[in-house]
Amino acid sequence: MTITRFAPSPTGYLHIGGLRTALYSFLWARRNNGTFRLRIEDTDTQRNNEQAMSAILEAFEWVGLSYDGEVEYQSQRLEIYKKYIQQLLDEGKAYHCYMSKEELDALRETQMANKQTPRYDGTWRPEDGKTLPEIPEGIEPVVRIKAPLEGKITFIDGVKSIMNFECSEVDDFVIARSNGMPTYNFVVTIDDALMEMTDVIRGDDHLTNTAKQIIIYEALGFNVPKFYHVPMINNPQGKKLSKRDGALDVMDYKRKGYLPEALLNFLVRLGWSNGDQEIFSMDEMLELFDPTNINKSASSYNEEKLLWLNAHYIKNVSNERLAQELKFFDCHLEGHDKKEMILDLSKERAQTLVELKEAINKILEVPTEYEAKGSKKFVKEDTIKILETYLQLLEEKKDTLHLACDYELITKPFIEEFELKFPQLFQPIRIALTGGTQAPSVYDIMAILGFEEVKKRINNAIE
Ligand code: GLU
Repeated sequence: MTITRFAPSPTGYLHIGGLRTALYSFLWARRNNGTFRLRIEDTDTQRNNEQAMSAILEAFEWVGLSYDGEVEYQSQRLEIYKKYIQQLLDEGKAYHCYMSKEELDALRETQMANKQTPRYDGTWRPEDGKTLPEIPEGIEPVVRIKAPLEGKITFIDGVKSIMNFECSEVDDFVIARSNGMPTYNFVVTIDDALMEMTDVIRGDDHLTNTAKQIIIYEALGFNVPKFYHVPMINNPQGKKLSKRDGALDVMDYKRKGYLPEALLNFLVRLGWSNGDQEIFSMDEMLELFDPTNINKSASSYNEEKLLWLNAHYIKNVSNERLAQELKFFDCHLEGHDKKEMILDLSKERAQTLVELKEAINKILEVPTEYEAKGSKKFVKEDTIKILETYLQLLEEKKDTLHLACDYELITKPFIEEFELKFPQLFQPIRIALTGGTQAPSVYDIMAILGFEEVKKRINNAIE
């Protein structure tokens, strides 16, 4: 049975890098009919619990990731962690350290001056035959684990293959602070062990933490899960992704008009591949995702690609769905008898729902101003004449005009009869109907608006 988890620290929003590891963990559990848990790592920042929690749940709901069982909060499990800390103390695998902050700082400075990596020097580590310093008054001790002094910590990472850490690089790190609060590496290990995680998929910024966590697993005799460390997401310049490069908050992608399908497809490819396939439905992801194929090197965030995927999904989801999504952008098409036509026409060029809404508004809203470049065309008398004559024709045939092709049928002979070039008629009509020169097919727009509205807009423009 595969058990995975997503374990965000509450920061007030869900980061897209976090969503990517959540997606990978979710896919792997679901693919194997396993369990996917959600755990909030809030031992440091209890203040933000609720707000951060609802931000994460909102994002999960938007993209459609489901988790099993109740959400676990580390802040509610303190007694459990304390019990294991006591066990390690009782077994002599951990010890109290009374070194003050000043002493630690001084130690660090000396080590750095000697070009050594700062590490705890083991002053309070009990050893056979060693006399420990006298316990100072007024200092609450931290608890440190007795890390092995020699040898290597080795584990097989599912992405990076064999990982080795020299024990000399890992010091006796703190597992409980002086206020009794356990540290991240400790609680994450206890929880992953007690919740029986089989596969831990997380960012490769946690690699050194994993080495520390393995020391804890071994000290407590727990089974070590399989680890998959996912390389970071960089910006196109190869630096750490920052707010300047795009949005970090998953919900910003909703606000910017992305469909969740596009974001998940983007994220699954950002760090994992299956041949050169780019488009993945959720079903395909569930069928194909395997963490052993996660890329070994960092991936590069490319908003163009996300836009391309989004345009693909906008064209391919149902109009019903688009109408539903557009409500968020205050664009309400329900009950509009030309809903299908409007969406078919507008979605062709839209890369985001925001652009889709703008394209729809361009058709539905009566223009109040006209693009300067084109407006000159109305000044010419012959243009006005052409439009007036064309309107007369539409008026005569209005009962036959329903679809774009009905307009086309009468317009072609009109153009021939008056020996016009297409732009002579279409450009001014386009401007009259939409205010701009960049609109899609004029026949489609006329069919959507219907004769009366077309007449009104043309008359408005030439008055
Ligand atoms: N709370 C950690 C983070 O947000 C989780 C790391 C892990 O998955 O173990 O980075």
